[in-house]
Formats: sequence, C-alpha cells, structure tokens
Amino acid sequence: MHEWSLAEAVVRAVLALIEQRGASRASELEVVYGELMGLDPDLMAEAIRELSVGSPLEGAEVKIVEEPARIRCRSCGSEFSLSSVDIDGPKILEEGHGRENLLHFLPDLAPALLRCPRCGSSDLEVDSGGSLRISRVVLEWS
Ligand SMILES: [Zn+2]
Repeated sequence: MHEWSLAEAVVRAVLALIEQRGASRASELEVVYGELMGLDPDLMAEAIRELSVGSPLEGAEVKIVEEPARIRCRSCGSEFSLSSVDIDGPKILEEGHGRENLLHFLPDLAPALLRCPRCGSSDLEVDSGGSLRISRVVLEWS
C-alpha cells in the first residue's frame, strides 16, 4: 500500500510548512494525484487523517483530487486525454475489464494500447498526471 508512505510524505511537508510560517494549525489540505498512479483516494485521505492525529494538522479537511493523464503524440505533437482515445487493444479488454481499469493496473502498457486520434501513430508519450503534489493548504494563526 503505497498510500501510507505517500501520506506520510504529505503530512511531513505540511507540518514543515506550518512550522515555517509560524501558523498554529492547518484547517484544509488538498492533494492532487495523477490518474495513472493507481491511488485509492479514500485510503489516502484516511492515511493522512490518521497520521495527523496529535499534530497541528489534526482535524483538517482533507481533499484528494485526481488529475487526468495527458498523452502526447511524438509524431504530430498533439495532446489528448486518456478518455478521448480509442484503445487498439488486446482481447483482454473485452472480458469484463474496462479499458480504464486495465490502464490503471498496467500504466506501462498505455503506449502499446493507444493510438493518436489525429494521426493514428502509436509513438506516444504518457504523462501520468505527474506525481503527487500538495495543491492547497489553508493555514490558521490563533
Ligand atoms: Zn499524432
């Protein structure tokens, strides 16, 4: 479960920020993660809440937001999102797994399964939506 190690890094970063700014607590926290990271947002929020107990981050409202993956075609340079393309994929896709699920489990497979909607090239670069980042923190001074 990599949610816990990621949550730990997030909590550590926010606590450092609180200290640096001389705030007394954080009341809101928003974390953005890439679509293809395969994160469980509920588990992530729960991990952050649990790791915050007893710290100035305890009780903060935690929001976990998914960021869509971007795909770029190396042939024609167009950019598109995962949901806008048809997958030229193997039969496994028809056996009850949604294409999105398959890609969530096997993000490395994306370039092999996708075709550029503009020129049809399969020479694609997948940006998983980057890594995890803290997009918003609301600090309070008492
Ligand atoms: Zn293209």
